[in-house]
Amino acid sequence: MRYGATFRCIAGCQGQHSLWQPIYRCPTCGDLLEVVHDLDALRHRSPAAWMKLFDERYKRTVWPYGSAVWGKKEWVCPDLADDNVVSMDEGGTNLLWAERFGREIGLEDLWLKLCGNSHTGSFKDLGMTVLVSVVKQMISAGRSIPAVACASTGDTSAALSAYAAAAAIPAFVILPRGKVSEAQLLQPLANGATVLALDTDFDGCMAIVQRLAEEERIYLANSMNSLRLEGQKTVAIEIAQQFDWELPDVLIIPGGNLGNVSALGAGLDMMEALGLTRKRPRIVVAQAAKANPLYRAYQKDWHFEPVRAESTQASAIQIGNPVSIKKAIATLQRYDGIVEQASESELADAAAHADLTGMFNCPHTGVALAALLKLRKRGQITATQRVVVISTANGLKFTDFKRGYHKRALPDVDSTHARLPVDLPNDYTAVCDAVARASESPSANSTGP
Ligand SMILES: *Cc1c(COP(=O)(O)O)cnc(C)c1O
Ligand SMILES: [Zn+2]
Repeated sequence: MRYGATFRCIAGCQGQHSLWQPIYRCPTCGDLLEVVHDLDALRHRSPAAWMKLFDERYKRTVWPYGSAVWGKKEWVCPDLADDNVVSMDEGGTNLLWAERFGREIGLEDLWLKLCGNSHTGSFKDLGMTVLVSVVKQMISAGRSIPAVACASTGDTSAALSAYAAAAAIPAFVILPRGKVSEAQLLQPLANGATVLALDTDFDGCMAIVQRLAEEERIYLANSMNSLRLEGQKTVAIEIAQQFDWELPDVLIIPGGNLGNVSALGAGLDMMEALGLTRKRPRIVVAQAAKANPLYRAYQKDWHFEPVRAESTQASAIQIGNPVSIKKAIATLQRYDGIVEQASESELADAAAHADLTGMFNCPHTGVALAALLKLRKRGQITATQRVVVISTANGLKFTDFKRGYHKRALPDVDSTHARLPVDLPNDYTAVCDAVARASESPSANSTGP
């Protein structure tokens, strides 16, 4: 069977555009493009046969199909030659039952999808493997692409740098200086990308990289390029797969540029269109109150206006003018969407509270957990619903955030669960005393009031 995929304008302009050319916007109206698949061709295989095929490949060793993205290659990028796949074994991340945290907040069936347990420590790997593979195939076919580039709040540049390095393609990353975590700055440097740290915010970096792309100096790797979303949509498929092809009731996801929630919707849409699922989970997007343009639009019947994003610990979603706003709103309208926001204190305390039940959450996951707490309190999520929180990055990339929290040094944050080590002399009795004190009150070394 010959499967196929092309770009199409999201505003409905006529015409399809090849995936194998540098194109990011509709040539007629300038709106975003989306990838559309030949669903009729895909329907030649039954829903049960697709599920069986995906399950047989999942996390096995036949390259590249053991990657949870490339295990679904026919649905992602069917015209890509296996030889051109640039994969670092993405996806297949753990979906953990947050039993204790769920119990503490009145939920029986709470799960976290840990997308940060991935090659570069965030879900961005899911999309970047597709984009860089397509670039590799274009280069193999003789097209001149001098470099790939992105504007980034940190994780995009880490993923781009790693995949570009693996494929020996030069990469440029354009970052807002001083606004990404230390690990996120070190990752592209270590992987050999040229890092341009600009004296602006993410939205400023985005404007510049778009201009570089328009003048064809670089190939654009931001999520405006919807090839990224084709990889990222596999998270929806993988969650269904991990629950034996059943979808949960609610999905909660932190949103910044809003590509990921659009991708989540695209994955759900495709499973429904091809008969693998029928249920439509409710989607909740969580935003930091300091960077909440989608939350404001939700309050105003989806009337959107860009904002100037203020500084937030959730730096990867510090975005005031999200590029995928239209796709995101369409997704939320289809999936009974809710948008909730979290203050700095709420996001940091939610992350820390969940950490106390055995996790190690990044601030963006904190935003999602804070939104969950609010919706549960208001009864918009009930005790028995199955809820999946999409954890977008690994907490170990955000040690500056953790350190600041536990030292009570974060602005606008109460640090309710702050904890510090117990400093002691090299003395056995002192250690015994400390053990006794800690056993009497397990939070003895917390610095709380
Ligand atoms: C990129 C990113 C997000 C936001 O995803 P969007 O597609 O921009 O909405 C959230 N969390 C982390 C950790 C990210 O790196
Ligand atoms: Zn158009």
